[in-house]
Order: sequence, then C-alpha cells, then structure tokens
Amino acid sequence: MNEKLAALLESVQRTAVQAGDVAADVAFGMGKKAGELLSVAKLRIRIASLEGDVKDRLSQVGELLYATHTGAPTDSEVLLEKLQEIDGLKAEIAGLQAEIRREEDAHTCPTCGAFIKDGDAFCGECGGQL
Ligand SMILES: [Zn+2]
Repeated sequence: MNEKLAALLESVQRTAVQAGDVAADVAFGMGKKAGELLSVAKLRIRIASLEGDVKDRLSQVGELLYATHTGAPTDSEVLLEKLQEIDGLKAEIAGLQAEIRREEDAHTCPTCGAFIKDGDAFCGECGGQL
C-alpha cells in the first residue's frame, strides 16, 4: 500500500474512539429534543435528506483517500472532520428513527397492534382499553 495512504488510514484509526464519543454526544442532544413532535412523514423526509448528506460526505472521503493514493496527500484533520460530520449525521438519523418508533408506538394498540388515533380511550379493533 502507498505509504502516505497507510499513514492517513492509521491516523484515522487512532481518532476512531474520539469520533465515537462525538457521535454519542450528538445522539444525546437529539434525545433531549424528543419532546418536539413532528409528523412521521416530515421525519422520514428529514431522514432521506440526511442520508443524502451522508452519501455526499462519503463521496468526499473517497475523493480525499483517492487523492492521497495518487500522490496528493490529504491532511488527516480534513479527513477526520469529514468523518465526524458523517458521525453527527448518522447520530441525527438514529435520533429521528427513534422518534418515528415512539410516534408509531404511541399510535399502536398494545393488545392487537391496530392503529389508534390521538385521544382514543379504546381500540377500535379489539375494544381494549388504551
Ligand atoms: Zn386493539
């Protein structure tokens, strides 16, 4: 393997633990905002947009690695910054997915699994108390 590429990958590995901590912090921040209820449809649109952002960053990371391979070494800080952006985006996606699950659980009969509306006292399907 190209020596510069090997050195770059090593520096990325060394920062892996630190990057994980950043992602955990972002995920925690998302949890605290969970009180803001958004419709599931809006959440899904936001997730799709964030997934597009992740793909963009991954493409940029690929270009940085390839540039290093072809003799234009990337500063590991630049690469790390991109990787941390991806960590943050993925943490935000995970937070939104958790919010969708909470929304869905809140609208599902615990007895039969049928859809229930806000304010329903009984399930329209099985009659179970909610
Ligand atoms: Zn039911």
